[in-house]
Amino acid sequence: MILPKSNRLTAEQLAEITQIVTEFGCKIQPIIGAVRTIYAIVGDERDELMINRLEGLAYVDRIDRIQSQFKLMDKRSDLASHRIVIGGVTLGEELFVIAGQCTIDPKNPNYFYETAEAVKEAGAQALRGGVWKPRTNPYTFQGDGKSLDILMEAHRRTGLPVDAEVMDEQHVRLALDAGVHMLQVGARNALNYSLLRAIGRAVAERDTVVLLKRGLHMGSLSEFISAAEYIASFGNPNIILCPRGTAPALDGYRNHPDESITPLLKEKTWAPVVVDPSHSVGKAAYVPACALAAVAYGADGLCIEAHVEPAKGIGDDPKQALAPAVLADTVAQARQLWALRHSIKTA
Ligand code: PEP
Ligand code: MN
Repeated sequence: MILPKSNRLTAEQLAEITQIVTEFGCKIQPIIGAVRTIYAIVGDERDELMINRLEGLAYVDRIDRIQSQFKLMDKRSDLASHRIVIGGVTLGEELFVIAGQCTIDPKNPNYFYETAEAVKEAGAQALRGGVWKPRTNPYTFQGDGKSLDILMEAHRRTGLPVDAEVMDEQHVRLALDAGVHMLQVGARNALNYSLLRAIGRAVAERDTVVLLKRGLHMGSLSEFISAAEYIASFGNPNIILCPRGTAPALDGYRNHPDESITPLLKEKTWAPVVVDPSHSVGKAAYVPACALAAVAYGADGLCIEAHVEPAKGIGDDPKQALAPAVLADTVAQARQLWALRHSIKTA
């Protein structure tokens, strides 16, 4: 990784370093951070002669040679100072809450508009709404592209940035063309490397944020962070890790709650962690406790399913969406706990 002295290399400087690394069979991938752009050397970057020539350039501050399977997402990377900003929130500076329906019902858009207003009122800074849905049963409602218009209309009405899951390249293109601010990679696609690459390529030149769920099958920390590295390696490091419970389920819960993974992730990566308690426990009555536990474990945010009238929802909403009043209480308590947690010295 090449760290320049300035915030960004000029075109001539970039051409010069590209020429050097090309001689050694490598390529340069600029990674645009909020503070400065860094230049990842793609390929075998251990050749001493190449490093010496790069270090000899007057405009190069230093070459970062951390040995890590995920050199961009690693906590020791220069990107550790990168800050993700969405909905006016800088992740890590205050609790970030995404809330909204599991699934937008294209036949009843008003429920979504009312949900959007309610989650804003409850203190959420971003709105979620499932347009295309990964469903276990092929005969159940699979989502509907028309819901994308409803999602964007809710954004216009509330001003909240919006998040939707994408499952293939066509969804990625449609979502980005429509102006979706946050692309969600679901638990079933968390290890779909072609999709991760396609998303990385598509968001490379944008400020889009990617919410990457943890794979369903209790994947290791490295597997989870490496999936984020796939996306970041194309140039956009705005990636949030989202634990959401793993299989096999804890008897009575939808999955095995895994909010306790957060301190472990934070030891290895600088990426913010936003926990999804809704899919973790899978029942509205258990969601507030799981949300608070997540904050106690150090989560930077929460992704909560909510519906203005859960019983009238579709997808997961009847069983796990919080009603507006419960969401508002949960968010208020989570914010208090976040403040308390950040006043505790952990060193
Ligand atoms: C969802 O967010 O509605 C969803 C399907 O999530 P997951 O991929 O975590 O199951
Ligand atoms: Mn859901």
